[in-house]
Amino acid sequence: MQNELTLKDIYLAQQRIAGLAERTPLLRSESLSRRWDCNVWLKLDNLQPTGAFKLRGAVNALLGLDKAQRERGVVTMSTGNFGRALAYAGQHLGIAVTVCISKLVPDNKVAALRESGAQVVIVGDTQDDADIEARRLQQEEGLAYISPFDDPLVIAGQGTCGLEIIQQQPQIDTVFAGLSGGGLIAGVGLAVKSINPHAEVIGVSMNQGAAMLESLAAGQPVQVQEVASLADSLGGGIGLDNAWTFAMTQRYMDRGYRVDEQQIARAMLHLFNHERLVVEGAAAVGIAAIEQHQIDLRGKQVALVISGQNLSNNSFAQACHLAGEPNYADL
Ligand SMILES: *Cc1c(COP(=O)(O)O)cnc(C)c1O
Repeated sequence: MQNELTLKDIYLAQQRIAGLAERTPLLRSESLSRRWDCNVWLKLDNLQPTGAFKLRGAVNALLGLDKAQRERGVVTMSTGNFGRALAYAGQHLGIAVTVCISKLVPDNKVAALRESGAQVVIVGDTQDDADIEARRLQQEEGLAYISPFDDPLVIAGQGTCGLEIIQQQPQIDTVFAGLSGGGLIAGVGLAVKSINPHAEVIGVSMNQGAAMLESLAAGQPVQVQEVASLADSLGGGIGLDNAWTFAMTQRYMDRGYRVDEQQIARAMLHLFNHERLVVEGAAAVGIAAIEQHQIDLRGKQVALVISGQNLSNNSFAQACHLAGEPNYADL
């Protein structure tokens, strides 16, 4: 395996995943463009068949397996969206998928995983516990272990989201994306900056349990306490043995912000009220960061990665409550 990813890997991924993962629309947001006095574009990866961008990396990873590995099957751990994407891709490609998850993962995500045909193993209170079980299955049953973020094929797959953004609107100069394990920001950052080195790539995490931001501040991967959040898809660690995304995030991400729960809720409700989009908290953190930190975007060409829409009615109701709006989930 090569030890560095390049733009070429992302172009290869783009060809490979076509047909299973969608090329999603990049839509101009009139409401946000007016609000921030700039041009804002929404990259609608919530419209992937599994409701989140993770399908890109999952498909690219499975298509990168050799024949023997395909026959033995794969295992992963995931807060939900990657597991679901891998299950979906596995079902379409005829590859058996086992997903290990922690007890924190919401019920709607567990149900979706099972519906997609994955074997689900629920173990422990953290993603790290789930990971230990996944590694055991790798050792004992010969399954190929696929990390939801720290894997070169996964990162290249997620990078196709950034490549599409630049292909769809070449003048984009600022990109915001949610930041958890860093697969998305690493891939998008590599794509965007390889084509336009002056573009800014900005990652956003929730206030507590921002594993990548704490690791960057410490200069090495560190463990964080997991805390429930509206942006539940941003939970989990980056792995103390992180091989790819820590270094790539250091290199390709210009800045990182944290946002609090109320700002995430308001951002979700903004998308609901003004764009008629229902998205999960992790998909709304870019808007939350711009509002909370009053980031000056005047005159810029801004892309926001709307990364997913897999939320329960309950989380949507909670967002309504936190944002001080009626409970639309009950209507
Ligand atoms: C996984 C995920 C992210 C963060 O991606 P990483 O590659 O883990 O940094 C953001 N939004 C959604 C909806 C996700 O599922």
